[in-house]
Amino acid sequence: MKLTFWGTRGSLPMNTPEHRIFGGNTSCVSVQAGNNQVIFDAGSGLIHLGSQLMAQDAREIDICFSHFHSDHICGFPFFKPFFNPKAKVRLHSFGIAEATLYDALTSYLSRPIFPISLDDFQAKVDFIHHPDGEALEIGDIGVQALEIPHPGGAHALKAQADGKSFVYATDTEHIIDQPNQALIAFLHQADMAVYDCTFDDSEFEQRRGWGHSTWQEGLRLAEAAQVKKFGIFHHDPDRSDTALTEIETRAQTILPHSFVTRDFMQLEV
Ligand SMILES: [Zn+2]
Ligand SMILES: [Zn+2]
Repeated sequence: MKLTFWGTRGSLPMNTPEHRIFGGNTSCVSVQAGNNQVIFDAGSGLIHLGSQLMAQDAREIDICFSHFHSDHICGFPFFKPFFNPKAKVRLHSFGIAEATLYDALTSYLSRPIFPISLDDFQAKVDFIHHPDGEALEIGDIGVQALEIPHPGGAHALKAQADGKSFVYATDTEHIIDQPNQALIAFLHQADMAVYDCTFDDSEFEQRRGWGHSTWQEGLRLAEAAQVKKFGIFHHDPDRSDTALTEIETRAQTILPHSFVTRDFMQLEV
């Protein structure tokens, strides 16, 4: 299984001289196994993946959405395969949410917010909703979803192929000293996992109710679930390269197989 992190930032794309090492694109990860690929979320990182898929003349594309906040859909209207009449793009959503994916995307792609609408896409676009508990197969890749606490609803996603597993668990807020047991079970012995690490434990008290968690909580969950490789993900937009490098050093003293994810990083699982 090959993972590519196209966007690892949370909340807002960023680009300053202090966002060079880790990057500033928002959430998008692709999972490839054999000839099959699944994309998790459509943040600004999706734009670069779209250029690659156009160059490869990819015709069959599956995008799974954790939820529909703007940092997870802002790359969507700029995804070049939508303008390829030969492409088929399947958009997957899961469980119960505040709105359907179709309603969220049609309101995002509407005037006066955006000049074009879904009707302007030339690819065949299908919206596929999976009720909680329904497994999804994309070729050899199995995908499961678990509802996680976040304003408006969100789902952690798990990809499994070739006996390996990757869990994508963003965005979510924890309760201090009450680890999310359902998420620990979902993460159990994952070969690789990423988690919402927007804040530091020291900042969390001031940010309660914002729907996000901390890198220290991520390490606690990863340890409890015996995750084999753990990626700090969904970085606060203001978190500089210097700050993220420091977090990585501190995290690795607690959990040696942890690291800070960065844009365009590739990983074999
Ligand atoms: Zn987010
Ligand atoms: Zn969110």
